[in-house]
Amino acid sequence: MTDTPVVAVVGSGPIGSGYARVILENHPTARVVMFEAGPQLTETPGESVRNILDPQEKQRARRMSQGPQSGALRESLGIPAGTAVEGMFTAREGTHLLDYGGVGSADAAQFPAAAASTNVGGMGAHWTCATPRPSGSECVTFIDDSEWSGLLDEAERLLHVQSAAFADSAVGAAIRALLAEEFSGELAEGSGPGTLPVAGDPQPDGTVRWAGADVVLGPLVDPSSPLAARFELRDLSLVRAVNHDGARATGLVVEDLRTHREETIDADLIVVAADAFRSPQLLWASGIRPRALGRYLTEHPVVLSTVALDESAMRRFASEEQLADELARRAVNPADPVAAVNRIPFHEPGHPFSLQVMYAERPPMPLPADHPRATNRWGYVNMGYGMRKRPRADDGIVFSDSARDYRGLPGMTIEYELTPSEEVEIAEGTARLRRAGEALGEFVADPRLMPPGSSLHYQGTTRVGDVDDGTSVADPFSRIWGFENLYVGGNGTIPTATTMNPTLMSLALAVRGARDAASRL
Ligand code: FAD
Repeated sequence: MTDTPVVAVVGSGPIGSGYARVILENHPTARVVMFEAGPQLTETPGESVRNILDPQEKQRARRMSQGPQSGALRESLGIPAGTAVEGMFTAREGTHLLDYGGVGSADAAQFPAAAASTNVGGMGAHWTCATPRPSGSECVTFIDDSEWSGLLDEAERLLHVQSAAFADSAVGAAIRALLAEEFSGELAEGSGPGTLPVAGDPQPDGTVRWAGADVVLGPLVDPSSPLAARFELRDLSLVRAVNHDGARATGLVVEDLRTHREETIDADLIVVAADAFRSPQLLWASGIRPRALGRYLTEHPVVLSTVALDESAMRRFASEEQLADELARRAVNPADPVAAVNRIPFHEPGHPFSLQVMYAERPPMPLPADHPRATNRWGYVNMGYGMRKRPRADDGIVFSDSARDYRGLPGMTIEYELTPSEEVEIAEGTARLRRAGEALGEFVADPRLMPPGSSLHYQGTTRVGDVDDGTSVADPFSRIWGFENLYVGGNGTIPTATTMNPTLMSLALAVRGARDAASRL
């Protein structure tokens, strides 16, 4: 190992960024080069698109993140024309479907809403920033409670998490009070309705500057910091393979998507953080194929609904003046969908679900003008229950060496099924969602189970484990079994059935991996 070891990171989302930051903060001389297949959207790399105030600029940034579904911008992103058409579903803005139905698309009929973002900052430029902690059986058993707590503290610091976000909102407090009445006596002490932690920095005008990979990178993208001199980010750089000798990774094969020239980059340590589908795909393409690679795919099934808040119920806990204050705050950035976010957290055995309740002054979908709740002065809540999906080897990605995707990487077919144990919990969660909605007002969108893939929280495909018994891809420090210097990061590393937004947990696992990596360097 040289005095200035080179670390190559694949993927610039919050997790690749976490690896870069923690390695540089823990090693005095290492250099990190980060490769990102998508374009840089904002002047500071990896900023949340939600912070862009100009609607046209915001729209363009989202489009540029949509890879094969980025329409007219596609060729400027190095993606050959004619390889993509719109599929049956439309992906959420800022993301593209894996199975978009065109040439080179994945085959995900059983997981149709599976999506990805291809841009600097990854999905972290588009996310909602909800950052609850995992608890109980959601956590990884081989990390003890006190270490977990320290890792989560560090992940919260890196993401600028506010645990009492919007706690001063009287509308938010009224929503919590109504939920507490409905579920009183059923939820364990300390597990009742509360505010949902979010990642961002509150501003003096009451808005929030949302966190993206930019805040995780922190000093690495601050030219005045000495760490910035040891960090380099290359956008529109598609990693095609990890070179290795079977026990040591030696470098990357990278295609510059502007020129389509390929080069080999030598590295002393490699981190693959290219999301839960494309990390295992890249490892497979590189001939690194542990038995569990791509298998044990989970997400939390989601049941969603929208409720118009009932005036008389809300007025029991909040005044007209307080509503006016809330609406004034919302008017500062009306395009920002996040305000007064509440939740009922996962808790065993009584509440093995996560409920997320987001207040908005307008409904998320246009309602017909003659709809009795087309306007509603007290606003709406978008509410969703997240349920567990038990990890099974049967669920996952089948890679093909002959069929190729639009980028020429191994084709992917996703196999996925909900089993009776999930169906029971989905039914229980749906019944609770109905009760929550009736306590708050009137449904304008009834509870509905979203198609598989809708959570955008895909887990398990590069899972960590404490023994190399074929059920995991990486060791307890996220190092690929059998390799000295190859780490994997992202939601794919989560081996458990979770119900919450996973980025904080993945970042906590990444902090552990990055500290290990820095010590080995
Ligand atoms: P990503 O952010 O997906 O980044 C991976 C990057 O790798 C991408 O930029 C991709 O282009 C790049 N890449 C892939 N293959 C290659 C290659 N071969 N070469 C080079 N680069 C490559 N999570 C939460 O916890 N809370 C939320 O509230 C939440 N809300 C969300 C809302 C939306 C609309 C979306 C889209 C996501 C949301 N998520 C949320 C999910 C969250 O954004 C992800 O968990 C998080 O971004 C994962 O980070 P990552 O770094 O592992 O992967």
